[in-house]
Amino acid sequence: MAYQISDACINCGACEPECPNSAISEGDPTYLINSNRCTECFGHYESSRCAEVCPVEACQKDPAHQETKEQLLAKFKKINPDKTPKTF
Ligand code: SF4
Ligand code: SF4
Repeated sequence: MAYQISDACINCGACEPECPNSAISEGDPTYLINSNRCTECFGHYESSRCAEVCPVEACQKDPAHQETKEQLLAKFKKINPDKTPKTF
């Protein structure tokens, strides 16, 4: 399930450099997550980096983008063709 950024975002920018898939960008009025690039950090980290660093808990799972592990793995491979997914 891809993550999304809620209205609580204060535009601090902390999440953008933490995303291993370059899924986060500055938007208006808040930062945005590209659901086509968000793997929930699957293959990179045990938990979602953006949610960990956000000071206001604005990064949350997006129920509109439900995905299986197989779909997340396929997305990981498409975005990171030269990397091997880490398992935890
Ligand atoms: Fe990026 Fe991970 Fe956040 Fe998705 S959950 S936007 S992959 S940091
Ligand atoms: Fe917004 Fe949180 Fe990202 Fe800061 S870390 S830009 S508050 S979503």
